[in-house]
Amino acid sequence: MTAVLPHTRTGPPEPVNGEHRQLRVVHPTTPVDLAAAEHAAAAFLAALGVDVDTENRRGTPGRMARAYAEMFAPRPFDLTTFPNEERYDELVLARSIPLQSVCEHHLLPFVGIAHVGYLPGDRILGLSKLAWVVEMFARRPQVQERLTQQVADWLHTTLGPRGVGVVIEAEHLCMTMRGVRSGGASTVTSAVRGHLRQDAAARAEFFALALPRTDRRRR
Ligand code: ZN
Repeated sequence: MTAVLPHTRTGPPEPVNGEHRQLRVVHPTTPVDLAAAEHAAAAFLAALGVDVDTENRRGTPGRMARAYAEMFAPRPFDLTTFPNEERYDELVLARSIPLQSVCEHHLLPFVGIAHVGYLPGDRILGLSKLAWVVEMFARRPQVQERLTQQVADWLHTTLGPRGVGVVIEAEHLCMTMRGVRSGGASTVTSAVRGHLRQDAAARAEFFALALPRTDRRRR
């Protein structure tokens, strides 16, 4: 098992013939000062005229601090890859992976789904791992465009596939609850790498599978 920092690792995993490989993926952590965060949350609420000196709200600054700490802390996971013994060379796609993140402009959540696909090279990936990769980049202050690219780039670099495609559809509470108050509006972003970027037919196939026509009509 190897410790890997998502931002420092470069190049695809070295091939190990006939064996599965595990990489321990750990997000670089900065220490969290929960007491300071609670103190700041209390000051923030007071400045907004929110009275926290009631029985029900007394614990609110602490709960706010712990909630944001949790939302910014992805869980470590083992990235298991296997040799592509059958030489499977068609698209592998995980659709509708639940996604929760926080917009870095307003610090309000955006929630939705991610569709993540890749064209296997020498190695294939445990399917549930695609959801873990999404979480790794979602659990931090984010913008949807960057999140989409980070998931695609990390898979492209770490797994060494022939191509990667990522589509994210999300509703941003900063749009739903303030400003234009456009409840139900979803934002769609995509990133394609490798063969899915270079080859028009492969790219079209990816989007047809990730966003089927029935889905697009419903929207
Ligand atoms: Zn926002």
